[in-house]
Amino acid sequence: MNDDPNFRPDAFRDECGVFGIFGDSEAANLAYLGLHALQHRGQEGAGIAASDGKLIRAFRGRGLVGDVFGGEELANLMGHMALGHVRYSTAGEGSIRNVQPFVVRYRDGQMGVAHNGNLVNASILREELEEQGSIFATSSDTEVILHLVAGSTQGTFINRLVDGLMRVEGAYSLVLMTEQTMVAVRDPWGFRPLVLGRRGSAWVVASETCALGLIDAEFVREVEPGEMVIVDHDGIQSLKPFPRRPRRACVFEHIYFARPDSTVFGRSVYDNRIQLGRILAEENPVEADVVIPVPDSGVPGALGYSQYSGVDYALGLIRSHYVGRTFIEPSQQIRDFGVKLKLAPIRSVIDGKRVVVVDDSLVRGTTLRKVVRMLRQNGAQEIHLRITAPPTVSSCYYGVDTPTKDELIATRMGVSDICEYLGADSLSYISLAGLRRAEGEDQGRFCEACFTGDYPVDPRPDRLHRQMPLFVDGQDSEES
Ligand code: AMP
Repeated sequence: MNDDPNFRPDAFRDECGVFGIFGDSEAANLAYLGLHALQHRGQEGAGIAASDGKLIRAFRGRGLVGDVFGGEELANLMGHMALGHVRYSTAGEGSIRNVQPFVVRYRDGQMGVAHNGNLVNASILREELEEQGSIFATSSDTEVILHLVAGSTQGTFINRLVDGLMRVEGAYSLVLMTEQTMVAVRDPWGFRPLVLGRRGSAWVVASETCALGLIDAEFVREVEPGEMVIVDHDGIQSLKPFPRRPRRACVFEHIYFARPDSTVFGRSVYDNRIQLGRILAEENPVEADVVIPVPDSGVPGALGYSQYSGVDYALGLIRSHYVGRTFIEPSQQIRDFGVKLKLAPIRSVIDGKRVVVVDDSLVRGTTLRKVVRMLRQNGAQEIHLRITAPPTVSSCYYGVDTPTKDELIATRMGVSDICEYLGADSLSYISLAGLRRAEGEDQGRFCEACFTGDYPVDPRPDRLHRQMPLFVDGQDSEES
């Protein structure tokens, strides 16, 4: 039992990106490239583990992929197989210990793992394991999987892995490796994405298809919910060892998280976001002169809104791509510069105009409150906020970093109060029915818990520890 009151083994509820490749002598270099394409899924840390069939070597570091791998590190990662991970977490525990892939040695040799998702029973399992004498090196739920596999009495790695995963609940898209085998697994609900691709004779797995595109790999298919894909020198095998569950893909991947050039859960993310914008315009029309996005996440939605409404699309805000998520917190007097570091207005687009502002989601309202103020300062006559997601009313326990429920603005205020708080002339969200309509024939197959509170997998009481803040860079966590 851990009796440190500050210890929060399940503190990470991160979105992450995973990558794996088997059968290419450039495996680590290709993993490095693949991770670049997945950088949007995590900026806090990156790592690659590679195997030459005898030994797994790994390198991990904090920060962006390009910063972690300066050159020398990759040269040491020899072999035909590699795993990669980009990590998205916030707050104090962003220590190097928690950067993946984790590589451990146990009685049968080495194994490595890269995980996207969040296990909802990790604390319970961890306590059990600790009572039996296990020692944990990280505070990540992913380490629980390694312990379960190592502790299984089954005879083969695959059987031990199945045995271990039978005990975990929640969201996982995993890529694992032993010295000679790569395994990709997706939880039976299919919360997080995972795709399979082919590059010549090599097999590739990645969180999103954009990582396949970058390395000229062909998209083969999704790793299916509940599927385990095993790749070794004998070829590829697929198992479905887990009890079947209804498919519950994360709808927020389509709304915000995934890169627009990816195909996620069988649909183009870009097309989906355009469709969300069109439905938003249909449901919430307004007389206006210009539609602008909050870049970058609001861009396809704003295009869709403009297409449907006929109101001109323009860029009224420009985003700087060079501001990291963490920078030194400035003093109170200059705190307002925070949003200006990230977003700059184009006055000629805004001045004297009735402006529709489209963003993908409204979580705490921090960003839009500052955006509204900036637009007013630049002459906007009217400001109409339109959101391509329904109100966020519940925290995610399946891998998306969300604030606690009471930090979510829509749990404390109704739409008109939120509008007043943000300082806008009007505010509308897409309806839940509209969101489902955008998903077409797949509607009903998504997890929408952040908008409905209807959790497909019970987020047990031990899950109700305080969640990670959405942003910790001081600027965005402050309401000014
Ligand atoms: P807020 O300012 O708290 O209302 O946050 C909403 C903004 O944060 C939106 O512009 C989103 O693009 C972005 N966002 C939404 N969810 C997340 C998340 N889980 N992690 C990081 N950014 C997010």
